[in-house]
Amino acid sequence: MKICIDAGHGINTPGKQSPDGMKEFEFNVVVAGYLDEILQNYKNVQTIFSHDHPTGRRDVPLRERTDKANNWGADLFISIHANAFGTGGWNNANGLETYVHNVVPQRTLDIANEIHKKLIEKTNMRNRGLKGANFHVLRETDMSAVLVECGFMTNYRDMQKLRTDSYRRTCAEAIAEAIVQHYNLDPKETQTNWTGSPALKRGDRGEMVKDLQRQLQELGYYDMDIDGLFGPGTERGVRNFQKDHDLAVDGFAGPATYEAVQKALDNPSTPSKEVFRVIVDGEQIGAYAEISNIIAQIENHIKDANEITIQRV
Ligand SMILES: [Zn+2]
Repeated sequence: MKICIDAGHGINTPGKQSPDGMKEFEFNVVVAGYLDEILQNYKNVQTIFSHDHPTGRRDVPLRERTDKANNWGADLFISIHANAFGTGGWNNANGLETYVHNVVPQRTLDIANEIHKKLIEKTNMRNRGLKGANFHVLRETDMSAVLVECGFMTNYRDMQKLRTDSYRRTCAEAIAEAIVQHYNLDPKETQTNWTGSPALKRGDRGEMVKDLQRQLQELGYYDMDIDGLFGPGTERGVRNFQKDHDLAVDGFAGPATYEAVQKALDNPSTPSKEVFRVIVDGEQIGAYAEISNIIAQIENHIKDANEITIQRV
């Protein structure tokens, strides 16, 4: 589905600011950006901004905003605002309200209701209700169009929230949640390939761990089940690989280890047949191509070991 996100106004639109100088656009654009970011995590969703993102230097005319959404064939238009009341200075008007055009089909009312409900639920703002209005962006859009006023810049208490990053994120999350539920959006597949980031460690599980185990196995550092559980066996494999490749031996499969593994896979300059495992009392200490490394490990362990095995990989 196609969603057009509109951060109302531009950064320098006259009058659109709090008594203590926060521009309305500063709030609108951050919520718009977070909303876009969240929606990117869902399948079959496309987004555009109808405002000048992210600077707002140009206050895109309302006609241009609605033309853009109409020509693109948006399914939903969501316009994000902060409210103002009075002729200057602080006053008591406060709370959150949501608008649709005066005459709208049921489907528009439904999504608007859900967005409004989620916003109230997640922000705990005073509920001023879902309202009808003859605003340009609601009237001239061919698709469902919803405009949210997330609090009053002219109310001192609302304003304390409007300026915080956490409140802006909460507003974006509420709007996104309503959209995801209403349109039954499916999340994108999670990452299945190990990329070194985030670092995998003991206790992790999933497709990325399987990928790591397969790669370690191919290099001769793992010979247990590819089960996607980062247990002691996987950790030992990572440590042994790190030992052999001049890496910090921490058992974390992070970016440096990832890079070295890819290099080893790309560059089989040391045929695996010439690598020998050194196993001390049943635990693999390392796998080495250099005889001197093997001898060094024997020297390290000979005093305390009952059995040292040298095994061709
Ligand atoms: Zn506004």
